Amino acid sequence: MSEKYAMTIDGQAVDAPATFGVVNPATGEVAEQAPDASREQLHAAMRSAQAAYAEWRRDEAARRKALHEAADIMFANTEEIGRILTLEQGKPLADATMEVAGAGVWLKYFADLELPREVIQDDDNALVEVVRRPMGVVAAITPWNYPLLLAIWKLAPALLAGNTMVLKPSPFTPLSSLKLGEVLRDVLPPGVLNVVTGGDELGAWMTSHEIPRKISFTGSVATGKRVAAAAAPDLKRVTLELGGNDPAILLDDADPAAVADKLFGAAFQNNGQVCSAIKRVYVPEALYGDVVDALAERAKAAKVGDGMQEGVQFGPINNKPQFERVGELVADALAGGARAAAGGKPVDGPGYFFEPTILADVEDGARIVDEEQFGPALPVVKYTDVEEALARANGTHFGLSGSVWSADADRAAEIAGRLECGTAWVNTHLALAPHQPFGGFKWSGVGVENGPWGLYGFTELQVVHRSKH
Ligand code: NAD
Repeated sequence: MSEKYAMTIDGQAVDAPATFGVVNPATGEVAEQAPDASREQLHAAMRSAQAAYAEWRRDEAARRKALHEAADIMFANTEEIGRILTLEQGKPLADATMEVAGAGVWLKYFADLELPREVIQDDDNALVEVVRRPMGVVAAITPWNYPLLLAIWKLAPALLAGNTMVLKPSPFTPLSSLKLGEVLRDVLPPGVLNVVTGGDELGAWMTSHEIPRKISFTGSVATGKRVAAAAAPDLKRVTLELGGNDPAILLDDADPAAVADKLFGAAFQNNGQVCSAIKRVYVPEALYGDVVDALAERAKAAKVGDGMQEGVQFGPINNKPQFERVGELVADALAGGARAAAGGKPVDGPGYFFEPTILADVEDGARIVDEEQFGPALPVVKYTDVEEALARANGTHFGLSGSVWSADADRAAEIAGRLECGTAWVNTHLALAPHQPFGGFKWSGVGVENGPWGLYGFTELQVVHRSKH
C-alpha cells in the first residue's frame, strides 16, 4: 500500500483515487492525508459487509472471542493509537491514551453482555419465545470529539448482536478510525468491519444506500435530522446521538468550594467538546460571586497547549469552523454585556487555541446560553427561584443530560427528576459508563447507546411461537 493510512474494505487495505488533508489543530497545518472514498468503493464496502453477514451472525462464541481480542489490541496499543488521536483531534496525549483504553473497556463489556432469549409463554398450547435477531449491515457515522470511543460504542454492540458494519468517521478525525480498521483486520473476518473515509457527502451516500438496515449516527442536531430524513424512504432503523446544551443547577445549599472542581471538570473535559458537557450553569444569587470566582480561578490556572507536550490540560479546539464558532459566541456575549471572568479570546499564535473562558453576568437569550457552544467557554447564569431555573433549564429543544447540585442529595434528586433529559445527575455530571444507557430527549436524539438497551438497538425483536397442537 502506498498510503500510510488506508481504508479497510473486505479485509484489505485499500487506497482511494484521491486523498484529503487532515489538519493538526495544534498547528493549523495539514499533517497527514486520508483516502477520499469513491462511490464505487462505498458500494464495495457495503457489498462486502452484506456478504460477511451470513456467516458472522451464526457464531455467537466467535463474535465474543473477536471482541475480547479487539479489546486486548486496544489495551496493547494505547500509546500508538493515542498519538494518532492527539495529532488529529488535539486532546492531550494522556486523555487520548485514556480514550483508547476506554475503547478496550467498552469492547470487554459488550463481549460479555448477554443477548437474552425470553420465554413469555410455556403451557399446553404453545412455547413462545422473544428473541433478539441482528439486522444486517449497520452504517455507522461518527463525529470528531471522541472519534475512537464513539466508533466503539457502535461497533461493539452491533458486532456482538451479529451485524456487520461500514464505519465512516468525521473528515476532521479520520486517522484513528483508519487505524482501528487496520488493527482489527487480524481479528475480524473480511467484511465484518469496513472503514471508509471522505467528506460529508460520503455520509449522505451511506444513509441513502440500499444495503444498510440500520444507521447509527452521532453528531449535530442539524445533520441528525438529515440522516433521519434520508433513512425514512426505506424505513432504515436509526439511532441518533445528537447535540446537547446541558444545564447544571446549583441549589442554595451547595458549597461553591466543594463543587467547583467537579463543575469545572465536567464543563471543560475535552476542552468543552463533549455532547454532554455542562454548557450552562444556573446559580442562586447568594452564591453567584463565589461560584464565578471559583470557576474563573480554575480556568486561569489551566495549562493550554499542544497535546503532545507533557502536562498540558487542554489542547486546541479541533477544527477551524468550530474555533471560529466558539469565538463568535463568546464575542456575541461580551458585546451583549457579559463579563469575561476568565479568558474571553483566542490564544495568540498558530493553531486553534482558545483561552478557557468563564462568562459572568450573562442571561438566557444570549446565544452562548441558548445554543450549543461545544468548546471551552462556560456561561454562568443567575437565578432567584429554583422553579424558574428548572423551567429555563428545560426551555430548549435539547434534552441530552443535566445535573443538580446540593448538600441535600434527596432534594437535588427530586429536582433532577424533573429535568427533561436522558441522564439526570446529582452532585456529578458526565459520569458515563458502559452499563448506563445514554441518549437524549427531544432534539438531542432518538434511541440510546450502551447497556443492554444500547445492544437491543442493534437488534430486531422476533417472536418464535411453537404450537404444541
Ligand atoms: P456533524 O453533524 O457535523 O458531523 C457528524 C458526522 O456526520 C461526520 O462524520 C460528518 O461527516 C457526517 N455527515 C455530515 N453531513 C452528513 C449527511 N448529510 N449525511 C450523513 N452524514 C453526514 O457533527 P460534528 O461537528 O462532527 O460533531 C459535533 C456534534 O456532535 C455536536 O453537536 C455534539 O454535541 C454532537 N455529539 C453528540 C454525541 C452524543 O452521543 N449525543 C456525542 C458526541 C458529539
